[in-house]
Amino acid sequence: MTDVVKFEKQGAIGVITIDSPPANAISFAVKKGLNDYFQACLEDHECKAIVLTGGGRMFVAGADISEFGQTTPEGVPELEDIITNFELSPKPIVAAINGFALGGGMELAMGCHYRLIAPTASVGQPEVNLGFIPGGGGTQRLPRLVGVEMALEMIVRGNPIDAEKALAAGAVDEIVDGDLIARAVEFAEERADSGEAPRQTGQLTEKVSDVDPKIFDDWREKIAPKSRNMEAPFECINAIEASTKLDIVEGIAFEREIFVRLMATNEAKSMRHMFFAEREVAKIPDVPRDTAQQEIKKAAIIGSGTMGGGIAMNFANAGIPVVVVDVAQDALDAGLKKVKDNYAGSVSRGRISQDKMDECVSLISGTTDYADLGDADIVIEAVFEDMSLKKKIFAELDNVCKPEAILASNTSSLDINEIATATNRPDRVCGTHFFSPANVMKLMENVRTDKSSKETIATIMSLAKKLRKTGVLVGVGDGFVGNRMLHIAARIAEFMLEEGALPEQVDKVIYDFGFPMGPFVMSDLAGVDVRYLIRQEQKKLYADRRQSVIIDRLYETGRYGQKTNAGWYKYEDGSRKAIPDSFMEDLIVKTSAELGFERRSFSDDEILETYLYSIINTGAKVLEEGLAIRSSDIDVVWHYGYGFPRYWGGPMFYADLIGLPKIYEKVIELHERYGAWCEPSNLLKSLAEEGKGFKDFSPA
Ligand code: NAD
Repeated sequence: MTDVVKFEKQGAIGVITIDSPPANAISFAVKKGLNDYFQACLEDHECKAIVLTGGGRMFVAGADISEFGQTTPEGVPELEDIITNFELSPKPIVAAINGFALGGGMELAMGCHYRLIAPTASVGQPEVNLGFIPGGGGTQRLPRLVGVEMALEMIVRGNPIDAEKALAAGAVDEIVDGDLIARAVEFAEERADSGEAPRQTGQLTEKVSDVDPKIFDDWREKIAPKSRNMEAPFECINAIEASTKLDIVEGIAFEREIFVRLMATNEAKSMRHMFFAEREVAKIPDVPRDTAQQEIKKAAIIGSGTMGGGIAMNFANAGIPVVVVDVAQDALDAGLKKVKDNYAGSVSRGRISQDKMDECVSLISGTTDYADLGDADIVIEAVFEDMSLKKKIFAELDNVCKPEAILASNTSSLDINEIATATNRPDRVCGTHFFSPANVMKLMENVRTDKSSKETIATIMSLAKKLRKTGVLVGVGDGFVGNRMLHIAARIAEFMLEEGALPEQVDKVIYDFGFPMGPFVMSDLAGVDVRYLIRQEQKKLYADRRQSVIIDRLYETGRYGQKTNAGWYKYEDGSRKAIPDSFMEDLIVKTSAELGFERRSFSDDEILETYLYSIINTGAKVLEEGLAIRSSDIDVVWHYGYGFPRYWGGPMFYADLIGLPKIYEKVIELHERYGAWCEPSNLLKSLAEEGKGFKDFSPA
């Protein structure tokens, strides 16, 4: 017997408790323990029925993902066999769902004959989020319990439901407000004494009979836009559809076949990688979890523009009072009005209640007087991208803020080491780089300067969590991690236009790969002028490199993107739909002639490889320069900052999937064509030569 599963007898009822903190995940050891105690109960003539529950605050959060791909040790049964054996047990089994019952946990509960649930618990089948479908009968049993529509909602979307909903849907039999185990033992006794055969979920037919197959096609159509290039969501639908046509044994065999196939796909590997990457990102090797942190009870934001307003909303949403500072009252009023309008929009779309809006708005105050910042625990500066202005502001903040306050900059590109020199507290200076729109985008690049203290880092990493963001620690460098990689790729995309491609072709390839949009639609959204100004700065830094001429020519026309209804595309009044424009095509063709390029055709593959491999090569440089802690952190930045599809796992994981030798070879070609922007990274070269991947690299 293993100690991750506990057993006790309460009278004639055997109580099996999965006790494998923190998640009670179904590991080999848990499977062995479950099976052993179950068999012992069957053989024990004194034992009339069984209760299955979880120790701590979980029932079972799912299968143990870290054991995926490993061969099952001898003597350990497969989960699906345990579930089938439970279902066929002549002795009633009652699941006492004390906390989350997810994935394999929910499947285990559905293999039990009855389910009681604590009011705070929830149930779900989130496997689709890992790129596969439930593989322990979930797609067959859940529709039999809750009906097809609800099963589709839960399995295809992967979102859990709470106890109330679970009861209403038929997933559970009873919500137990008091002692769950005592009630489950009583319930099990009643069932055993009733003399009735235990109710087998797999034999229920009412909710899966006479189902109009149109519902499945409707779902396929409904999920298509958000499930581009993915298999798992569609296979979830196929498997649920099978539950309406096949008996439980055939249905489980059908599900199994899909499950086994999907487990080996790149989609599942990539999504599993992202699952671990998101957990890994919080670990900072030299800043242990127990590092002292500054408590953030009040925040201040300098600048009430595009970013300042959105950042302030993040604090208010998290219940933290925040004061916003701007130079003049009219700028401040305009900034705060935008914030209010933003909340009002969310109320009118039904995303938040009026009460929530009122609460948030009441937490945001405004001032034009820096003296009002004395009690802020953190100040985030979000003024114009101008070094001398930022230094002036940091010097002022150093004077007015309490000595322990953290002073952070939201700069996208400036050297925060230099900004810190304006203060007498460089250990408390750092970057908190939010992405636009700051109240929506999940990424926060937290920037560590040469002097940022461990306490400062621990504080901003935990602040990210409080603001419900994904914080990634990065080092100081041009564009940090995300924008450094993006700006090179965006430039290379413009070079492709100069040589023969068109924006709509490039954007389509990048969109089809799985990004929410291509680089030119993105440029129109962010502002062609913004990108142009960044380029002007970068021209000074990289004067000897090839520069994009097409962006200069576009900027000169005054077409700044969506805000002027024209940029790389044209936009019909108020619409965000990018429409290819012959004006732009003419401008591109003219620019090619100006540069002396004979326009040539680009294949979709060439566009994709050129764009992605330039991103990957820059990512490799970021890694070798130590600006990111690990390659998977870069993947997290790209997923949350730019929508790199989860099913490709981020640029660095994607590179590992493709194989670094192929990427390196192509980067050598790009270097020949585009010069220093694509100079091959030494790390990429050495890993490719050693037959390794980025996953094998750990910085010294
Ligand atoms: P913005 O022009 O929209 O807003 C800047 C605000 O700062 C204005 O309201 C201005 O009145 C105010 N301001 C100027 N001087 C000030 C002073 N001395 N004291 C107080 N307020 C002052 O700019 P933005 O787009 O919000 O960018 C702000 C910062 O965030 C920049 O460093 C930028 O690089 C960075 N950033 C921008 C984005 C983006 O997409 N816009 C994304 C990430 C980071």
